[in-house]
Amino acid sequence: MSEFVFAPPAIPSVAVAGSSQRFPVHCIYCVSHNYATPGREISSEPPVFFMKPADAIVANGAAVPYPSRTTNCQHEIELVVALGRKGRDISERQALEHVFGYAVGIDLTRRDLQRSAKQWGQPWDAAKAFEGSAPVAAIRPAALGHVSQGRIWLTVNGELRQESDVKHMLWDVRHIIAELSTLYEVRPGDLVFCGTPAGVGAVRRGDRLEGGVEGLEVLRITIGSARGPD
Ligand code: MN
Repeated sequence: MSEFVFAPPAIPSVAVAGSSQRFPVHCIYCVSHNYATPGREISSEPPVFFMKPADAIVANGAAVPYPSRTTNCQHEIELVVALGRKGRDISERQALEHVFGYAVGIDLTRRDLQRSAKQWGQPWDAAKAFEGSAPVAAIRPAALGHVSQGRIWLTVNGELRQESDVKHMLWDVRHIIAELSTLYEVRPGDLVFCGTPAGVGAVRRGDRLEGGVEGLEVLRITIGSARGPD
């Protein structure tokens, strides 16, 4: 057996509610612009996907270091779908058979870098795919029910910032999985962040963020000081 040139990193994983087993993360896909806003109540275009590295996962209860190169890091509370079965070109009818479970996540975003990227037609990676950018609470297995509606909310230091219902997603979970699987072969371990409702805003060092989706474990993180040199 060949040896690695250095010790490989641990496999990123997420807790599973009611279990001592963990969900090993493969890819993190994210959907942008998935809630109705005034003037845009229906989905006229297919969803746009971007990715985060699997090790951007942050455990529930942890502190996320304030990221570098931004003065406008923002919270986006999202329903997260965890996939448990691989597939390509999955039909909407069969899409839920690929779901392992559901969780609450925050898509942390360096908004200033995203705005600049949009302006210049550049990739979003630096805005979206940084260390600590994907806090996720425990996954509730789909055996306990699929999520097609329910309140989604986020508070900062106890003050309500985001509130909607996941039934207002422009593309529902079935459609997102079907569409995603035409672009990529989805795998067990994939997570899909389903987009955020209105009310996104900047976070500051020391902020306490709490967010939830009805029926799922509440996600709580704090924003720590800037990451120092390792
Ligand atoms: Mn998002």
